[in-house]
Amino acid sequence: MTATLMDGKALAARIRAEVAREVAAFPRPIGLATVLVGDDPASEVYIRLKHKASLEVGIEARDLRLPASTSEEELLSLVAELNADDAIDGILVQLPLPGGIDEGRVINAIDPAKDVDGIHPVNGGLLLAGTPAHVPGTPLGVLELLDEYGVELRGANAVVIGRSNIVGKPVALLLLHRHATVTICHSRTRDLAAETLRADVIVAAVGVPGLVKAEMVKAGAAVIDVGITRTEAGLVGDVAPDVAARAGLLTPVPGGVGPMTIAMLLKSTVRAARYRRKELAHPVT
Ligand code: NAP
Repeated sequence: MTATLMDGKALAARIRAEVAREVAAFPRPIGLATVLVGDDPASEVYIRLKHKASLEVGIEARDLRLPASTSEEELLSLVAELNADDAIDGILVQLPLPGGIDEGRVINAIDPAKDVDGIHPVNGGLLLAGTPAHVPGTPLGVLELLDEYGVELRGANAVVIGRSNIVGKPVALLLLHRHATVTICHSRTRDLAAETLRADVIVAAVGVPGLVKAEMVKAGAAVIDVGITRTEAGLVGDVAPDVAARAGLLTPVPGGVGPMTIAMLLKSTVRAARYRRKELAHPVT
């Protein structure tokens, strides 16, 4: 068997075109503020891509850059300003923040209705409760890809590898809400292969190149590779190349989940604007 590659680039382009139409039809400009503290090169790349995509769909993106020496209080006061700024619908603080800044305090300071990255505990709690508002873009993108390729989730065995707040946990909850039987694996899992071999759907969100090997995959499974590791040969995922000969569906790296993450962020920004115009009711704010 040779897996069908799940084309995140093409699906993301279609979603971006839809978002552009929604932005054009919206009665006022939609504003997104991104905040980058310090000069982490990977974060700079992500911010650049997010800005380019925002501008292409007509979102007014404000690129706020602060030096690595910024204090926690300075960052908190910028977040407070953005919360109060009527021209700003969505706020994205690029993580990780430099050492010395308490990430939790900064995340908690973001207005949950403007939290387009879905990282505020209120948004995490809403997802847990099954009444999601803002959900992180990567997990949303994973679900969009599975739906696009017609993967049956109801009753399916889904194994998520990784338990971060930004990918592993929310993707597991989204799969659970879609009635999959979900197992979450992590660095202390005793026998990863025993878990993955039972899976109809595998989502790998780890950051260890080649962690998921062909002999760990059931024939015909859908394998979503969220991992991104920079190597001299370019970007590589968590899934070894030989999995393509065993899986039924597989996301490439790059060109799978990555473009979907950005497309879903744009969608969340439009959603944030709808919350602020009271077209949609945010369940809490
Ligand atoms: P993270 O916070 O570092 O979490 C990694 C998770 O992997 C942790 O839960 C960790 O377990 C688990 N893990 C580590 N080694 C393992 C092993 N040998 N076996 C099983 N589990 C293991 O990372 P993240 O932010 O979730 O991101 C995960 C990956 O996705 C990274 O490569 C990141 O670059 C990529 N990513 C891609 C996108 C995209 O748009 N494509 C977006 C976000 C992230 P413990 O909890 O036990 O430590």
